Amino acid sequence: MVLADLGRKITSALESLSNATIINEEVLNAMLKEVCAALLEADVNIKLVKQLRENVKAAIDLEGMASGLNKRGMIHNAVVMELVKLVDPGVEAWTPTEGKDNVIMFVGLQGSGKTTTCSKLAYYYQRNGWKTCLICADTFRAGAFDQLKQNATKAQIPFYGSYTEMDPAVIAAEGVEKFKGENFEIIIVDTSGRHKQEDSLFEEMLQVSNAVQPDNVVYVMDASIGQACESQAKAFKDKVDVASVIVTKLDGHAKGGGALSAVAATRSPIIFIGTGEHIDDFEPFETQPFISKLLGRGDIEGLIKRMKELNPEAGKNKLKHGQFTLRDMYKQFQNIMEMGPFGQIMGMIPGFGTDFMSKGNEQESMARLKKLMTIMDSMSDQELDHIDGVKLFYKQPNRIQKVARGSGVATKDVQELLTQYTRFAQMVKKMGGIKGLFKGGDISKNVNPSQTAKLYQQMAKMMDPQVLHIMGGMAGLQSTMRQFQQGAAGNMKGMMGFNNM
Ligand code: GDP
Ligand code: MG
Repeated sequence: MVLADLGRKITSALESLSNATIINEEVLNAMLKEVCAALLEADVNIKLVKQLRENVKAAIDLEGMASGLNKRGMIHNAVVMELVKLVDPGVEAWTPTEGKDNVIMFVGLQGSGKTTTCSKLAYYYQRNGWKTCLICADTFRAGAFDQLKQNATKAQIPFYGSYTEMDPAVIAAEGVEKFKGENFEIIIVDTSGRHKQEDSLFEEMLQVSNAVQPDNVVYVMDASIGQACESQAKAFKDKVDVASVIVTKLDGHAKGGGALSAVAATRSPIIFIGTGEHIDDFEPFETQPFISKLLGRGDIEGLIKRMKELNPEAGKNKLKHGQFTLRDMYKQFQNIMEMGPFGQIMGMIPGFGTDFMSKGNEQESMARLKKLMTIMDSMSDQELDHIDGVKLFYKQPNRIQKVARGSGVATKDVQELLTQYTRFAQMVKKMGGIKGLFKGGDISKNVNPSQTAKLYQQMAKMMDPQVLHIMGGMAGLQSTMRQFQQGAAGNMKGMMGFNNM
Protein backbone atom coordinates (compact mmCIF):
# COMPACT_ATOMS: atom_id res chain seq x y z
CA MET A 1 0.00 0.00 0.00
CA VAL A 2 1.49 3.32 -1.03
CA LEU A 3 0.46 6.66 0.42
CA ALA A 4 -2.07 7.25 -2.33
CA ASP A 5 -3.86 4.06 -1.27
CA LEU A 6 -3.94 5.23 2.31
CA GLY A 7 -5.53 8.47 1.15
CA ARG A 8 -8.12 6.61 -0.88
CA LYS A 9 -9.03 4.33 2.02
CA ILE A 10 -9.49 7.19 4.46
CA THR A 11 -11.50 9.15 1.92
CA SER A 12 -13.75 6.18 1.34
CA ALA A 13 -14.23 5.72 5.10
CA LEU A 14 -15.21 9.39 5.37
CA GLU A 15 -17.59 9.02 2.47
CA SER A 16 -19.43 6.27 4.34
CA LEU A 17 -20.75 9.10 6.53
CA SER A 18 -22.47 10.70 3.59
CA ASN A 19 -24.10 7.43 2.64
CA ALA A 20 -25.51 6.74 6.10
CA THR A 21 -29.10 7.89 6.61
CA ILE A 22 -28.54 8.79 10.24
CA ILE A 23 -25.34 9.49 12.10
CA ASN A 24 -25.16 7.53 15.32
CA GLU A 25 -22.52 5.93 17.52
CA GLU A 26 -22.52 2.82 15.37
CA VAL A 27 -21.86 4.69 12.14
CA LEU A 28 -19.12 6.75 13.78
CA ASN A 29 -17.41 3.66 15.18
CA ALA A 30 -17.55 1.83 11.87
CA MET A 31 -15.99 4.79 10.09
CA LEU A 32 -13.24 5.14 12.69
CA LYS A 33 -12.53 1.43 12.49
CA GLU A 34 -11.92 1.75 8.76
CA VAL A 35 -9.70 4.80 9.19
CA CYS A 36 -7.65 3.09 11.90
CA ALA A 37 -7.28 -0.11 9.90
CA ALA A 38 -5.89 1.90 6.97
CA LEU A 39 -3.43 3.72 9.25
CA LEU A 40 -2.25 0.49 10.85
CA GLU A 41 -1.79 -1.03 7.42
CA ALA A 42 0.47 1.93 6.59
CA ASP A 43 2.49 1.01 9.68
CA VAL A 44 1.43 3.93 11.83
CA ASN A 45 2.24 3.16 15.46
CA ILE A 46 -0.72 1.57 17.23
CA LYS A 47 -0.50 4.01 20.12
CA LEU A 48 -0.78 6.95 17.75
CA VAL A 49 -3.72 5.32 15.99
CA LYS A 50 -5.52 4.71 19.28
CA GLN A 51 -4.91 8.27 20.29
CA LEU A 52 -6.38 9.52 17.04
CA ARG A 53 -9.52 7.47 17.60
CA GLU A 54 -9.95 8.65 21.14
CA ASN A 55 -9.41 12.27 20.20
CA VAL A 56 -12.04 12.13 17.46
CA LYS A 57 -14.52 10.48 19.82
CA ALA A 58 -13.82 13.02 22.51
CA ALA A 59 -14.37 15.86 20.07
CA ILE A 60 -17.71 14.51 18.88
CA ASP A 61 -20.55 14.33 21.36
CA LEU A 62 -23.34 12.88 19.24
CA GLU A 63 -26.01 12.91 21.93
CA GLY A 64 -25.33 16.41 23.05
CA MET A 65 -25.43 17.80 19.53
CA ALA A 66 -28.44 19.86 18.55
CA SER A 67 -30.37 18.22 15.75
CA GLY A 68 -29.73 21.02 13.31
CA LEU A 69 -25.96 20.66 13.46
CA ASN A 70 -24.02 19.27 10.55
CA LYS A 71 -22.76 16.13 12.24
CA ARG A 72 -21.14 14.71 9.12
CA GLY A 73 -19.17 17.87 8.56
CA MET A 74 -18.04 18.04 12.17
CA ILE A 75 -16.87 14.43 12.24
CA HIS A 76 -15.13 14.93 8.94
CA ASN A 77 -13.26 17.94 10.26
CA ALA A 78 -12.33 16.20 13.48
CA VAL A 79 -10.76 13.31 11.55
CA VAL A 80 -8.85 15.63 9.23
CA MET A 81 -7.58 17.64 12.17
CA GLU A 82 -6.31 14.51 13.89
CA LEU A 83 -4.60 13.33 10.71
CA VAL A 84 -2.82 16.67 10.48
CA LYS A 85 -1.73 16.31 14.10
CA LEU A 86 -0.40 12.84 13.37
CA VAL A 87 2.18 14.13 10.88
CA ASP A 88 2.84 17.47 12.56
CA PRO A 89 6.20 17.57 14.36
CA GLY A 90 5.06 20.77 16.06
CA VAL A 91 8.42 22.45 15.54
CA GLU A 92 9.28 25.39 13.32
CA ALA A 93 11.70 24.28 10.61
CA TRP A 94 14.99 25.95 9.75
CA THR A 95 14.94 28.29 6.76
CA PRO A 96 17.92 29.86 4.97
CA THR A 97 18.76 33.56 5.21
CA GLU A 98 19.00 35.62 2.03
CA GLY A 99 22.20 37.38 1.05
CA LYS A 100 24.55 35.28 3.19
CA ASP A 101 26.03 31.79 2.96
CA ASN A 102 23.91 28.99 4.38
CA VAL A 103 25.79 25.71 4.80
CA ILE A 104 23.56 22.64 4.79
CA MET A 105 25.11 19.29 5.68
CA PHE A 106 23.41 16.00 4.88
CA VAL A 107 23.64 12.91 7.08
CA GLY A 108 22.01 9.49 7.00
CA LEU A 109 22.59 5.81 6.38
CA GLN A 110 23.94 4.52 3.10
CA GLY A 111 21.22 4.17 0.49
CA SER A 112 18.77 6.40 2.33
CA GLY A 113 18.86 8.83 -0.57
CA LYS A 114 21.34 11.50 0.58
CA THR A 115 23.06 12.15 -2.73
CA THR A 116 19.80 12.13 -4.67
CA THR A 117 18.15 14.41 -2.13
CA CYS A 118 21.11 16.85 -2.03
CA SER A 119 20.66 17.35 -5.75
CA LYS A 120 16.89 17.73 -5.38
CA LEU A 121 17.27 20.33 -2.65
CA ALA A 122 19.92 22.23 -4.63
CA TYR A 123 17.69 22.19 -7.68
CA TYR A 124 14.74 23.39 -5.60
CA TYR A 125 16.66 26.36 -4.18
CA GLN A 126 18.22 27.21 -7.52
CA ARG A 127 14.82 27.25 -9.16
CA ASN A 128 13.63 29.64 -6.47
CA GLY A 129 16.41 32.08 -7.24
CA TRP A 130 19.07 31.17 -4.67
CA LYS A 131 22.73 31.01 -5.69
CA THR A 132 23.27 27.33 -5.00
CA CYS A 133 26.09 24.76 -5.12
CA LEU A 134 26.93 21.18 -4.13
CA ILE A 135 29.93 19.59 -2.41
CA CYS A 136 30.70 15.87 -2.36
CA ALA A 137 32.37 14.86 0.92
CA ASP A 138 31.78 11.14 0.46
CA THR A 139 35.09 9.35 0.03
CA PHE A 140 33.77 6.11 1.47
CA ARG A 141 31.77 4.94 -1.50
CA ALA A 142 33.44 4.47 -4.85
CA GLY A 143 31.72 6.51 -7.52
CA ALA A 144 30.09 8.87 -5.01
CA PHE A 145 31.69 11.93 -6.59
CA ASP A 146 30.70 10.84 -10.09
CA GLN A 147 27.11 10.38 -8.98
CA LEU A 148 26.91 13.89 -7.52
CA LYS A 149 28.78 15.37 -10.46
CA GLN A 150 26.34 13.83 -12.89
CA ASN A 151 23.29 15.14 -11.02
CA ALA A 152 24.83 18.59 -10.62
CA THR A 153 25.86 18.84 -14.26
CA LYS A 154 22.43 17.82 -15.47
CA ALA A 155 20.79 20.49 -13.32
CA GLN A 156 23.53 23.04 -14.06
CA ILE A 157 24.49 23.44 -10.43
CA PRO A 158 28.14 24.30 -9.60
CA PHE A 159 29.84 21.52 -7.61
CA TYR A 160 33.06 20.62 -5.83
CA GLY A 161 34.76 17.30 -5.06
CA SER A 162 37.98 15.36 -5.43
CA TYR A 163 39.12 12.03 -6.87
CA THR A 164 42.35 11.99 -4.89
CA GLU A 165 41.80 13.56 -1.46
CA MET A 166 40.70 10.84 0.95
CA ASP A 167 39.72 12.92 3.96
CA PRO A 168 36.07 14.02 3.68
CA ALA A 169 36.57 16.81 6.23
CA VAL A 170 39.34 18.33 4.10
CA ILE A 171 37.26 18.24 0.90
CA ALA A 172 34.24 19.68 2.69
CA ALA A 173 36.28 22.52 4.19
CA GLU A 174 37.94 23.34 0.85
CA GLY A 175 34.63 23.34 -0.97
CA VAL A 176 32.87 25.52 1.58
CA GLU A 177 35.71 28.02 1.59
CA LYS A 178 35.75 28.22 -2.19
CA PHE A 179 32.01 28.74 -2.51
CA LYS A 180 31.79 31.18 0.39
CA GLY A 181 34.42 33.23 -1.41
CA GLU A 182 32.21 33.22 -4.50
CA ASN A 183 29.18 34.47 -2.54
CA PHE A 184 27.07 31.36 -2.83
CA GLU A 185 23.95 31.49 -0.67
CA ILE A 186 23.11 27.79 -0.43
CA ILE A 187 26.06 25.44 0.05
CA ILE A 188 25.00 21.80 0.32
CA VAL A 189 27.45 19.21 1.62
CA ASP A 190 26.80 15.54 0.82
CA THR A 191 28.46 13.05 3.16
CA SER A 192 28.89 9.29 3.17
CA GLY A 193 26.85 6.74 5.07
CA ARG A 194 27.25 3.21 6.36
CA HIS A 195 24.81 0.35 6.32
CA LYS A 196 24.40 0.57 10.05
CA GLN A 197 24.71 3.25 12.69
CA GLU A 198 28.39 2.61 13.35
CA ASP A 199 30.74 4.62 15.50
CA SER A 200 33.00 5.25 12.50
CA LEU A 201 30.10 6.90 10.67
CA PHE A 202 29.27 9.19 13.56
CA GLU A 203 32.96 10.00 13.99
CA GLU A 204 33.27 11.03 10.34
CA MET A 205 30.05 13.06 10.57
CA LEU A 206 31.41 15.02 13.50
CA GLN A 207 34.69 15.73 11.72
CA VAL A 208 32.92 17.07 8.64
CA SER A 209 30.55 19.03 10.83
CA ASN A 210 33.44 20.63 12.71
CA ALA A 211 35.16 21.46 9.43
CA VAL A 212 32.21 23.23 7.81
CA GLN A 213 30.19 24.51 10.80
CA PRO A 214 26.82 23.85 9.15
CA ASP A 215 23.86 26.18 9.66
CA ASN A 216 21.53 23.25 9.17
CA VAL A 217 22.09 19.50 9.47
CA VAL A 218 19.59 17.55 7.40
CA TYR A 219 18.96 13.98 8.35
CA VAL A 220 17.78 11.87 5.40
CA MET A 221 15.42 9.06 6.31
CA ASP A 222 14.26 6.24 4.07
CA ALA A 223 10.50 5.72 4.56
CA SER A 224 10.58 2.03 3.76
CA ILE A 225 11.31 1.02 7.35
CA GLY A 226 8.04 2.54 8.58
CA GLN A 227 7.67 3.24 12.27
CA ALA A 228 11.20 1.95 12.92
CA CYS A 229 12.14 5.45 11.73
CA GLU A 230 11.51 6.65 15.24
CA SER A 231 14.45 4.88 16.87
CA GLN A 232 16.75 5.61 13.94
CA ALA A 233 15.89 9.30 13.96
CA LYS A 234 16.48 9.40 17.71
CA ALA A 235 19.88 7.72 17.36
CA PHE A 236 21.02 10.32 14.82
CA LYS A 237 19.63 13.20 16.82
CA ASP A 238 21.60 12.00 19.84
CA LYS A 239 24.87 12.06 17.92
CA VAL A 240 24.67 15.13 15.71
CA ASP A 241 22.77 18.34 15.85
CA VAL A 242 20.00 17.36 13.43
CA ALA A 243 17.93 20.43 12.63
CA SER A 244 15.70 19.09 9.86
CA VAL A 245 14.56 15.81 8.38
CA ILE A 246 13.79 14.80 4.81
CA VAL A 247 11.82 11.60 4.40
CA THR A 248 12.54 9.84 1.09
CA LYS A 249 10.97 7.08 -0.99
CA LEU A 250 7.43 7.97 -0.04
CA ASP A 251 6.38 7.04 -3.55
CA GLY A 252 6.65 3.32 -3.45
CA HIS A 253 6.55 2.09 0.07
CA ALA A 254 3.81 0.49 2.07
CA LYS A 255 4.97 2.04 5.29
CA GLY A 256 5.10 5.72 4.34
CA GLY A 257 2.42 6.78 6.80
CA GLY A 258 4.24 5.01 9.59
CA ALA A 259 7.53 6.68 8.71
CA LEU A 260 6.09 10.20 8.59
CA SER A 261 4.17 9.90 11.84
CA ALA A 262 7.13 8.26 13.58
CA VAL A 263 9.51 11.04 12.57
CA ALA A 264 6.94 13.64 13.57
CA ALA A 265 6.60 11.93 16.94
CA THR A 266 10.27 12.65 17.65
CA ARG A 267 9.43 16.34 17.13
CA SER A 268 11.87 16.56 14.24
CA PRO A 269 10.77 19.14 11.69
CA ILE A 270 10.24 17.43 8.33
CA ILE A 271 11.12 19.99 5.67
CA PHE A 272 10.69 18.06 2.42
CA ILE A 273 9.61 14.67 1.21
CA GLY A 274 11.07 12.63 -1.65
CA THR A 275 8.54 10.99 -3.92
CA GLY A 276 10.63 9.42 -6.67
CA GLU A 277 14.04 9.08 -8.26
CA HIS A 278 13.88 12.19 -10.43
CA ILE A 279 15.25 15.54 -9.43
CA ASP A 280 11.81 17.11 -9.26
CA ASP A 281 10.15 14.32 -7.30
CA PHE A 282 10.43 16.50 -4.25
CA GLU A 283 7.94 18.54 -2.26
CA PRO A 284 8.12 20.97 0.64
CA PHE A 285 6.43 19.31 3.56
CA GLU A 286 3.64 21.18 5.24
CA THR A 287 1.19 19.20 7.27
CA GLN A 288 -2.11 20.79 6.29
CA PRO A 289 -1.59 20.78 2.51
CA PHE A 290 -0.06 17.32 2.72
CA ILE A 291 -3.15 15.81 4.34
CA SER A 292 -5.39 17.81 2.08
CA LYS A 293 -3.67 16.38 -0.98
CA LEU A 294 -3.64 12.91 0.48
CA LEU A 295 -7.40 13.06 0.79
CA GLY A 296 -7.83 14.35 -2.73
CA ARG A 297 -8.94 17.77 -1.59
CA GLY A 298 -6.24 19.70 -3.36
CA ASP A 299 -3.95 22.42 -2.18
CA ILE A 300 -5.43 25.61 -3.52
CA GLU A 301 -3.16 27.81 -1.47
CA GLY A 302 -0.01 26.08 -2.69
CA LEU A 303 -1.22 26.33 -6.24
CA ILE A 304 -1.94 30.02 -6.00
CA LYS A 305 1.42 30.63 -4.38
CA ARG A 306 3.11 28.81 -7.20
CA MET A 307 1.20 30.79 -9.83
CA LYS A 308 2.00 34.08 -8.15
CA GLU A 309 5.70 33.27 -7.93
CA LEU A 310 5.71 32.81 -11.66
CA ASN A 311 3.48 35.58 -12.76
CA PRO A 312 3.64 38.75 -10.73
CA GLU A 313 1.80 40.47 -13.54
CA ALA A 314 -1.30 38.42 -12.92
CA GLY A 315 -4.45 40.37 -13.34
CA LYS A 316 -3.09 43.16 -15.49
CA ASN A 317 -3.82 41.55 -18.79
CA LYS A 318 -6.06 42.45 -21.64
CA LEU A 319 -7.84 39.14 -21.12
CA LYS A 320 -10.04 41.16 -18.86
CA HIS A 321 -11.56 42.55 -21.98
CA GLY A 322 -12.34 39.12 -23.34
CA GLN A 323 -9.45 38.98 -25.81
CA PHE A 324 -7.37 35.88 -26.08
CA THR A 325 -4.68 35.76 -28.74
CA LEU A 326 -2.35 32.97 -29.80
CA ARG A 327 0.38 34.70 -27.80
CA ASP A 328 -1.81 34.52 -24.72
CA MET A 329 -2.17 30.80 -25.24
CA TYR A 330 1.59 30.51 -25.66
CA LYS A 331 2.08 32.28 -22.35
CA GLN A 332 -0.36 29.97 -20.63
CA PHE A 333 1.53 26.93 -21.88
CA GLN A 334 4.76 28.52 -20.79
CA ASN A 335 3.33 29.02 -17.31
CA ILE A 336 2.31 25.41 -17.06
CA MET A 337 5.75 24.25 -18.17
CA GLU A 338 7.54 26.64 -15.86
CA MET A 339 5.51 25.71 -12.86
CA GLY A 340 7.70 22.68 -12.76
CA PRO A 341 6.67 19.13 -12.34
CA PHE A 342 3.30 18.76 -13.94
CA GLY A 343 2.33 15.95 -11.60
CA GLN A 344 2.92 18.11 -8.56
CA ILE A 345 0.80 20.90 -9.95
CA MET A 346 -1.88 18.41 -10.79
CA GLY A 347 -1.66 17.10 -7.25
CA MET A 348 -2.52 20.55 -5.97
CA ILE A 349 -5.72 20.62 -7.94
CA PRO A 350 -8.70 19.31 -6.02
CA GLY A 351 -9.83 15.95 -7.25
CA PHE A 352 -6.43 14.64 -8.29
CA GLY A 353 -4.78 14.48 -4.95
CA THR A 354 -4.86 10.77 -4.37
CA ASP A 355 -2.68 10.15 -7.37
CA PHE A 356 -0.18 12.87 -6.70
CA MET A 357 2.51 10.32 -6.11
CA SER A 358 2.17 8.71 -9.51
CA LYS A 359 3.30 10.25 -12.73
CA GLY A 360 0.84 8.84 -15.27
CA ASN A 361 1.20 10.40 -18.67
CA GLU A 362 2.84 13.58 -17.51
CA GLN A 363 5.74 13.19 -19.90
CA GLU A 364 3.38 12.79 -22.81
CA SER A 365 1.40 15.88 -21.86
CA MET A 366 4.56 17.94 -21.53
CA ALA A 367 5.83 16.75 -24.91
CA ARG A 368 2.51 17.78 -26.41
CA LEU A 369 2.68 21.26 -24.95
CA LYS A 370 6.25 21.61 -26.14
CA LYS A 371 5.30 20.68 -29.67
CA LEU A 372 2.50 23.25 -29.72
CA MET A 373 4.89 25.91 -28.46
CA THR A 374 7.46 25.02 -31.11
CA ILE A 375 4.82 25.61 -33.75
CA MET A 376 3.93 28.99 -32.25
CA ASP A 377 7.62 29.90 -32.18
CA SER A 378 7.47 29.98 -35.97
CA MET A 379 4.63 32.48 -36.03
CA SER A 380 5.10 36.19 -36.64
CA ASP A 381 4.16 38.84 -34.09
CA GLN A 382 1.26 39.82 -36.26
CA GLU A 383 -0.08 36.28 -36.13
CA LEU A 384 0.50 35.85 -32.43
CA ASP A 385 -1.09 39.14 -31.44
CA HIS A 386 -4.01 39.20 -33.87
CA ILE A 387 -7.31 39.39 -32.04
CA ASP A 388 -8.69 36.69 -34.32
CA GLY A 389 -5.68 34.60 -35.25
CA VAL A 390 -7.69 31.77 -36.70
CA LYS A 391 -9.42 34.01 -39.21
CA LEU A 392 -6.08 35.42 -40.31
CA PHE A 393 -4.70 31.94 -40.96
CA TYR A 394 -7.71 30.69 -42.85
CA LYS A 395 -7.99 33.81 -44.97
CA GLN A 396 -4.38 33.42 -46.02
CA PRO A 397 -3.69 29.66 -45.95
CA ASN A 398 -0.12 30.10 -47.11
CA ARG A 399 0.52 31.28 -43.55
CA ILE A 400 -0.28 27.77 -42.34
CA GLN A 401 2.25 26.32 -44.77
CA LYS A 402 4.88 28.87 -43.73
CA VAL A 403 4.49 28.03 -40.04
CA ALA A 404 4.51 24.27 -40.74
CA ARG A 405 7.74 24.61 -42.75
CA GLY A 406 9.32 26.84 -40.12
CA SER A 407 8.61 24.49 -37.25
CA GLY A 408 9.16 21.27 -39.17
CA VAL A 409 5.68 19.86 -38.73
CA ALA A 410 2.84 18.88 -41.09
CA THR A 411 0.23 21.49 -42.05
CA LYS A 412 -2.27 19.25 -40.30
CA ASP A 413 -0.44 19.90 -37.03
CA VAL A 414 -0.76 23.63 -37.46
CA GLN A 415 -4.45 23.25 -38.20
CA GLU A 416 -4.82 21.19 -35.05
CA LEU A 417 -3.11 23.89 -33.07
CA LEU A 418 -5.56 26.44 -34.41
CA THR A 419 -8.45 24.19 -33.43
CA GLN A 420 -6.97 23.87 -29.99
CA TYR A 421 -6.65 27.63 -29.79
CA THR A 422 -10.29 28.06 -30.76
CA ARG A 423 -11.27 25.75 -27.93
CA PHE A 424 -9.15 27.63 -25.45
CA ALA A 425 -10.43 30.99 -26.57
CA GLN A 426 -14.02 29.80 -26.20
CA MET A 427 -13.21 28.46 -22.81
CA VAL A 428 -11.76 31.79 -21.74
CA LYS A 429 -14.89 33.57 -22.86
CA LYS A 430 -17.05 31.00 -21.12
CA MET A 431 -15.04 31.33 -17.93
CA GLY A 432 -15.69 35.03 -18.03
CA GLY A 433 -19.35 34.14 -18.11
CA ILE A 434 -19.08 31.50 -15.49
CA LYS A 435 -17.36 33.91 -13.18
CA GLY A 436 -20.69 35.66 -12.74
CA LEU A 437 -22.18 32.43 -11.49
CA PHE A 438 -19.83 32.32 -8.58
CA LYS A 439 -21.10 35.56 -7.17
CA GLY A 440 -21.64 35.12 -3.48
CA GLY A 441 -19.45 32.06 -3.49
CA ASP A 442 -22.19 29.53 -3.94
CA ILE A 443 -23.10 28.35 -7.39
CA SER A 444 -26.24 26.58 -6.17
CA LYS A 445 -27.78 29.91 -5.27
CA ASN A 446 -27.39 31.19 -8.77
CA VAL A 447 -28.26 28.20 -10.93
CA ASN A 448 -30.33 25.07 -10.57
CA PRO A 449 -28.82 21.57 -10.72
CA SER A 450 -29.77 20.91 -14.32
CA GLN A 451 -28.17 24.18 -15.39
CA THR A 452 -25.04 23.20 -13.48
CA ALA A 453 -24.87 19.84 -15.19
CA LYS A 454 -25.26 21.52 -18.57
CA LEU A 455 -22.51 23.94 -17.71
CA TYR A 456 -20.12 21.12 -16.83
CA GLN A 457 -20.97 19.36 -20.05
CA GLN A 458 -20.31 22.47 -22.05
CA MET A 459 -16.99 22.99 -20.36
CA ALA A 460 -16.03 19.39 -20.94
CA LYS A 461 -16.85 19.72 -24.62
CA MET A 462 -14.73 22.79 -25.01
CA MET A 463 -11.72 21.36 -23.28
CA ASP A 464 -8.99 19.44 -24.97
CA PRO A 465 -9.99 15.80 -24.42
CA GLN A 466 -6.49 15.08 -23.15
CA VAL A 467 -6.66 17.81 -20.57
CA LEU A 468 -10.06 16.56 -19.51
CA HIS A 469 -8.62 13.10 -19.22
CA ILE A 470 -5.84 14.35 -16.98
CA MET A 471 -8.43 16.10 -14.87
CA GLY A 472 -10.09 12.80 -14.17
CA GLY A 473 -12.87 13.06 -16.75
CA MET A 474 -16.28 14.50 -15.97
CA ALA A 475 -16.13 13.33 -12.37
CA GLY A 476 -12.83 15.09 -11.84
CA LEU A 477 -14.10 18.24 -13.46
CA GLN A 478 -17.20 18.24 -11.29
CA SER A 479 -15.30 17.74 -8.08
CA THR A 480 -12.91 20.49 -9.12
CA MET A 481 -15.81 22.81 -9.69
CA ARG A 482 -17.38 21.86 -6.39
CA GLN A 483 -14.18 22.74 -4.60
CA PHE A 484 -14.15 26.11 -6.18
CA GLN A 485 -17.69 26.82 -5.16
CA GLN A 486 -16.62 26.21 -1.62
CA GLY A 487 -14.81 29.42 -1.15
CA ALA A 488 -12.11 29.49 -3.77
CA ALA A 489 -14.25 30.63 -6.64
CA GLY A 490 -12.05 33.54 -7.54
CA ASN A 491 -9.13 31.29 -8.27
CA MET A 492 -10.79 29.19 -10.91
CA LYS A 493 -8.75 30.83 -13.63
CA GLY A 494 -5.54 30.19 -11.79
CA MET A 495 -6.29 26.53 -11.65
CA MET A 496 -6.92 26.35 -15.35
CA GLY A 497 -3.66 28.07 -16.16
CA PHE A 498 -5.46 31.23 -17.16
CA ASN A 499 -3.88 33.11 -14.39
CA ASN A 500 -3.82 36.48 -15.97
CA MET A 501 -7.45 36.88 -16.84
P1 GDP B 1 22.83 7.68 -0.46
O1 GDP B 1 23.64 6.43 -0.35
O2 GDP B 1 22.21 8.03 0.86
O3 GDP B 1 23.58 8.81 -1.06
O4 GDP B 1 21.60 7.32 -1.41
P2 GDP B 1 21.40 7.65 -2.94
O5 GDP B 1 21.06 9.07 -3.14
O6 GDP B 1 22.55 7.12 -3.73
O7 GDP B 1 20.06 6.82 -3.24
C1 GDP B 1 19.97 5.42 -3.11
C2 GDP B 1 18.88 4.92 -4.05
O8 GDP B 1 17.60 5.40 -3.65
C3 GDP B 1 19.05 5.41 -5.48
O9 GDP B 1 18.76 4.35 -6.35
C4 GDP B 1 18.02 6.51 -5.62
O10 GDP B 1 17.59 6.64 -6.95
C5 GDP B 1 16.93 6.02 -4.72
N1 GDP B 1 16.08 7.11 -4.18
C6 GDP B 1 16.46 8.21 -3.51
N2 GDP B 1 15.39 8.95 -3.14
C7 GDP B 1 14.30 8.31 -3.63
C8 GDP B 1 12.87 8.57 -3.58
O11 GDP B 1 12.37 9.55 -3.02
N3 GDP B 1 12.08 7.64 -4.20
C9 GDP B 1 12.59 6.54 -4.82
N4 GDP B 1 11.73 5.70 -5.39
N5 GDP B 1 13.90 6.28 -4.87
C10 GDP B 1 14.75 7.13 -4.28
MG1 MG C 1 25.55 9.10 -1.49
